[in-house]
Amino acid sequence: MSDLILFWHRRDLRIADNTGLAAAREQSAKVIGVFCLDPNILNSDNVAPARVSYMIGCLESLQQRYTQAGSQLLILHDNPVKAIPALAEALKAKAVFWNWDVEPYAQIRDNDVISILKGKGIQTLHQNWDQLLHSPDEIFSGSKTPYTVYTPFWKNLSSKPKAKPIATLENCQHLTTAEQEIATQSGAINLPSAKELDFIWDGELIISPGEAAAQAKLENFIKNPINEYQEQRNFPAVNGTSQLSAALKFGVIGIRTIWQATIEALENSNSEEVTASIRTWQQELAWREFYQHAMYHFPDLADGAYRDSFKNFPWRNNEAHFQAWCEGKTGYPIVDAAMRQLNEIGWMHNRCRMIVASFLTKDLIINPQWGEKYFMQKLIDGDLSANNGGWQWSASSGMDPKPLRIFNPASQAQKFDADGEYIRQWVRELKSVDTEYLISGNITPLERRAVGYPTPIVDHKKQQALFKQLYQEQKTSLD
Ligand SMILES: Cc1cc2nc3c(=O)[nH]c(=O)nc-3n(C[C@H](O)[C@H](O)[C@H](O)COP(=O)(O)OP(=O)(O)OC[C@H]3O[C@@H](n4cnc5c(N)ncnc54)[C@H](O)[C@@H]3O)c2cc1C
Repeated sequence: MSDLILFWHRRDLRIADNTGLAAAREQSAKVIGVFCLDPNILNSDNVAPARVSYMIGCLESLQQRYTQAGSQLLILHDNPVKAIPALAEALKAKAVFWNWDVEPYAQIRDNDVISILKGKGIQTLHQNWDQLLHSPDEIFSGSKTPYTVYTPFWKNLSSKPKAKPIATLENCQHLTTAEQEIATQSGAINLPSAKELDFIWDGELIISPGEAAAQAKLENFIKNPINEYQEQRNFPAVNGTSQLSAALKFGVIGIRTIWQATIEALENSNSEEVTASIRTWQQELAWREFYQHAMYHFPDLADGAYRDSFKNFPWRNNEAHFQAWCEGKTGYPIVDAAMRQLNEIGWMHNRCRMIVASFLTKDLIINPQWGEKYFMQKLIDGDLSANNGGWQWSASSGMDPKPLRIFNPASQAQKFDADGEYIRQWVRELKSVDTEYLISGNITPLERRAVGYPTPIVDHKKQQALFKQLYQEQKTSLD
């Protein structure tokens, strides 16, 4: 057995502030990275071209980072349950290290890998919760159970000390020529492009791939926008949020690095408003943590509603309505603007994610799982826990204690896009419509026809009443 340790990257595409990778480096200078393009994921119908494109760019950058550290990142394209142990055995690795994940599929896959490696006498280390501030077993209620409500979760999480960023991998060794040959025979390949994997994304990405770009985005956000985050984060026409979600999804930046930046920002704050803004951003990071803990403790969330009253809900599931929603052709300007933003850039502002999710579930009365899946097929930051959490919250089917939350598209637009700037940016045919009509949605049928914009596919008031009625009937049948 050699000194070689394989470090298996999954949702931690970086070498800085990586807990599992740092642990591997402590045990050996010969740490070789490996990433496995998993056909179980890539061939599913839950994958967004923008996300794959970003991921491949991040892998390219990770390969360069490994080279700078004196080592290398190998790429496999096969079922990891088979490919990771086979590579480890062929290279006579003494151990395989990786960071643990909350997702149900990842846990089954990882347990299979562990038992095969064990059978081959290869050590594993996989207990690090690298992508979280706290392990899911660290934040429990007084009765030692997982939280199902966010506010007490946040209070507990924010009171706990946080780990500092971990040292970056450096001074490593790479494979010998003979070992490189063995790796190739065991399936190591050159990194394919997204196109070669059949994912076509020609648009720009909202965030450039790689650690340096994520770090720059964080620094830029901390320099100023964070100070006004509380005020600006709700306006989709304003660039008021960090746009770090894809980097966080793939672990291109460490969560400890991000938290540490907020602590320093708090230390430098010179007003109550700024402090409140920074705390608000920390709370958003805690939502991410809340949903990941929830997914870990309640894996059934991935399969549908948390609340009984939504388990067999009589969704209308009109296919034509769903298609119109996907294409941004519902006739509701703010909804259509948001869906077109998603389709064009693979990202959508959080306020608009809530608006379109409410519209799909409460106005069109369509199963939230349809929307959840469509988001996964489009979002650069598509992430099971956050996406599922967002959809369950919007559908009122999740852990949120508020029973029914229905967004009125017109009031949302009037409040958060009062000048119609966001709507005009994405629904270009409505550019010359008066702001008043644009945000209220009261555009005449004649004007709609003239600019080629659809009439509303449903009536908000009627649908809202219908949804409430269905909900009451459902509740009564369960009582
Ligand atoms: C229906 C719906 C679906 C969503 N799907 C996803 C998804 O697939 N992936 C995803 O990362 N986020 C998702 N979100 C949460 C949120 O919309 C995005 O994280 C946010 O818009 C990303 O932009 P940002 O990085 O500029 O966020 P910022 O406002 O700068 O927030 C910082 C970080 O905190 C986290 N965060 C912020 N808000 C939330 C939230 N409500 N839930 C969980 N994490 C949050 C993200 O990691 C984000 O990058 C969804 C929300 C809804 C309502």
